[in-house]
Amino acid sequence: MIDQPYVYRHRELVEPDWQRLPGWADVSREDWDSAQWQRAHCVKNIRQLRQVIGGGLADRFYADLERDQAERATMSMLVPPQMLNTMVPGLSPADPGFTDAFYADPVRRYMLPVISDRHAEWPSHPHSSRDSLHEAEMWPVEGLTHRYPTKVLAELLSTCPQYCGHCTRMDLVGNPTPVIDKHRFELGREDRFAAMLAYLRANPGVRDVVVSGGDVANLPWPRLESFVAGLLEIDNIRDIRLASKALMGLPQFWLTDEVRAGMDRLAATARQRDVSIAIHTHVNSAQSVTPLVARATKAMLDTGIRDVRNQGVLLRGTNETAEQLLDLCFALLDDAKIMPYYFYMCDMIPGSEHWRLSLGEAQQLQHDIMGYLPGFATPRMVCDVPYVGKRWVHQVARYDQELGISYWTKNYRTGVELDDAFALEREYEYYDPIYLLPEAGQEYWRSHARTPVGAAS
Ligand code: SF4
Repeated sequence: MIDQPYVYRHRELVEPDWQRLPGWADVSREDWDSAQWQRAHCVKNIRQLRQVIGGGLADRFYADLERDQAERATMSMLVPPQMLNTMVPGLSPADPGFTDAFYADPVRRYMLPVISDRHAEWPSHPHSSRDSLHEAEMWPVEGLTHRYPTKVLAELLSTCPQYCGHCTRMDLVGNPTPVIDKHRFELGREDRFAAMLAYLRANPGVRDVVVSGGDVANLPWPRLESFVAGLLEIDNIRDIRLASKALMGLPQFWLTDEVRAGMDRLAATARQRDVSIAIHTHVNSAQSVTPLVARATKAMLDTGIRDVRNQGVLLRGTNETAEQLLDLCFALLDDAKIMPYYFYMCDMIPGSEHWRLSLGEAQQLQHDIMGYLPGFATPRMVCDVPYVGKRWVHQVARYDQELGISYWTKNYRTGVELDDAFALEREYEYYDPIYLLPEAGQEYWRSHARTPVGAAS
């Protein structure tokens, strides 16, 4: 009998042994489980990375990382111990081959990018830009993106407990880097939150709010709870989604007594008012799904919220094969009870070319994962097309594979087109990485390239 292209096996979740890393050899289980300890011991620079991993990681890696930080990185370094511990989970730094395994690790590839990862000729696409989704243009209130007719994105804060190298919101989120400064909110926090709630009260056509950032896990809990409680008082709001990669990166936060008790209160009010609250997280690799992540998710589901869902990002080197994606989806679904939902194509921010897949590759992945997962848990591959929004990868209207340009249409006006009679007749473009194109396509871009706005190239 011939094997199926993918063979499912139930895999037990494993918390890698953090004591294998020299800097954490004496760290107790109690400390490891403490959100406070995790936050205090995040790795924020190369010196701290060396203190944790030590000389088992070759100097060439540290030098590669240092050059990337100085010349290309759009996000500063911030890796919680929980995430660092999931890199190369089966080896200690003293083991032969550790450096090569660290280079190849799927989580390392997007949390600790190095300059040799980036594409030498095309580190950035000529059409890449900061705020590549033009979210700030669609703010009726600072931080509140109104792109779709019935739903909004509330960016409450501009920090996270972890910084991902490929962050779409690199324009706003995190600390400045040597090549990218950051946009800062002008209004104070309280004024912004009040203005957001006022806008939602005044716009009964909005029923769905994604409460995001940054990551809501970085907002002091009482302030997050009072904002969500404010949403629950607005009659037209029926769906609330809390966006937190920290459910995976810092599950200890979601397991604290304060957060569990607060979510209990919010979930009870939501039930009374017939509103759905869900948590949306961001997991890109199966090895990130550990028993602590499963515990945190179950603690949240036990409060009575509607669901916990995953929105991953397709990243070369991390999850670009159907096998990697299916392993991740089954890890999420089997023991962590997280619903696979979307995989986004990586957005066109500066410095992202080596991570991005072409539209054709994303279409192939969608094809290749079909039929293995339950239908309700089969994620859609989506392209977030600038000025359009999320489109399933097979919704493309036209696709020029030589130039790597896909053309998309839409069926609603975004916040910036409410007076634009032609918005629904126009085609909107999205671009494949140039280095993947046939030679004629690459030659076209060499002769037409322009310097990307804010690019780190
Ligand atoms: S957690 Fe989300 S918002 Fe924060 S850096 Fe990562 S991708 Fe960006």
